[in-house]
Amino acid sequence: MNEALLQFVWQYSLYRLTGLQTAAGEPLTIIHCGRLNKDAGPDFLEGKVKIGNTTLVGNIELHIKSSDWLKHGHQNDAAYQNLILHVVFENDVKDAAANTPVLELKEHIPPHVFAHYSGLMQTVQKLPCAGQHQKVKDITKEAWLSRLLAERWEQKLADWNVLLENSAEDWRNLLYWRMAANFGFKTNATPFLMLAQSLPLNIPTRHKDNLTQLEALFFGQAGMLEDDFKDDYPRELQREYDYLRKKYQLKPIKQHLWKFLRMRPANFPTIRIAQFAALVHKSIHLFSQIIETHTVKEIEPLLDVKASSYWDTHFQFDVAQKQTSKKSLGASSVQNIIINTIAPIQFLYAARQDTHKLQERSLQLLEAVPAEKNNITRLWAENDWHAVNAAQSQALLQLYNNYCSEKRCLECSVGLNIIRSAS
Ligand code: SF4
Repeated sequence: MNEALLQFVWQYSLYRLTGLQTAAGEPLTIIHCGRLNKDAGPDFLEGKVKIGNTTLVGNIELHIKSSDWLKHGHQNDAAYQNLILHVVFENDVKDAAANTPVLELKEHIPPHVFAHYSGLMQTVQKLPCAGQHQKVKDITKEAWLSRLLAERWEQKLADWNVLLENSAEDWRNLLYWRMAANFGFKTNATPFLMLAQSLPLNIPTRHKDNLTQLEALFFGQAGMLEDDFKDDYPRELQREYDYLRKKYQLKPIKQHLWKFLRMRPANFPTIRIAQFAALVHKSIHLFSQIIETHTVKEIEPLLDVKASSYWDTHFQFDVAQKQTSKKSLGASSVQNIIINTIAPIQFLYAARQDTHKLQERSLQLLEAVPAEKNNITRLWAENDWHAVNAAQSQALLQLYNNYCSEKRCLECSVGLNIIRSAS
């Protein structure tokens, strides 16, 4: 037994409810366990119990042993003087909390609660409830996934709100920064965001009709135009960038921030920067278009971009490939951008406008995108939990990263159902 488990048992009534009595021998009925208090003071607030013929409403404190009351010094704390109940696992010291009725739970908790809890806590499996979550109803899992997705977006969008406030509520700018970070995908998201933040949006916007100048700005600010090149193309970009850098007094980020190691060449940051420049070049009022589109079919043409022709035969400057290939943004990259930038920004915009219908649409958009394939969704699939769309795969990522890997099974709906199950 530990404090967290005792609290869980109390909160979800995982003990035999009949035949309860206080340590003084009076019959006891729990009408309401109270509201879990995460701040200082008693553990549960505004509980309701009936002792003998008297109904009491008030706060409830929990301890593993009744002697903990004295150890924690509650006898000298005014916040603990008017409790209606002291719930303990073991009543080792009689009347430790003078004038407060005591309920000892030890004999009332069924053995399966301990067995299922230790099964989850002691396993060395990557997924502690492997082989067990199947006994939880689908409807319970689906409701839990919806809450996890909301939690994921809440965490993510808190940072975006800060970015928005830092850019004087300029949504175009938020989209520019988040889209740039997304083009860096997992490995180069940070340098890509730094690149965008080093180049105010009004500058690429001013040069959006000239792709060479856009590439010069982005590659130059990425710190990638500082070498002695052989090819004409990077030398031309260098000349353009020298001029634009002086004109706008730009300061590039450091080239060493970019990672190429262990990446597929199609994902090299050089290719992604060229594609990002192509996106800026082709887009007209991209933010408005993104806010107004709600289906994958409508969004795909907006993101249908390919790197300029030099990149048909290169993955890096001055290193020619034998084969020619167009470097388009692939379908999985487009899906990744819908999941990580477009749907969340639509949701945030709708929330700021207080438009419930638009919020719903951004969730529907996510549901229309196939589930992501990565190590975590594969782990779930191997354990018989298959995400059917990106909304579910995002929720499963949240579940694994924030709950399973930290063994927070007591805070998880699946964990609750496994622990309370008698089988
Ligand atoms: S947190 Fe939930 S889903 Fe994850 S291992 Fe524990 S019980 Fe299973």
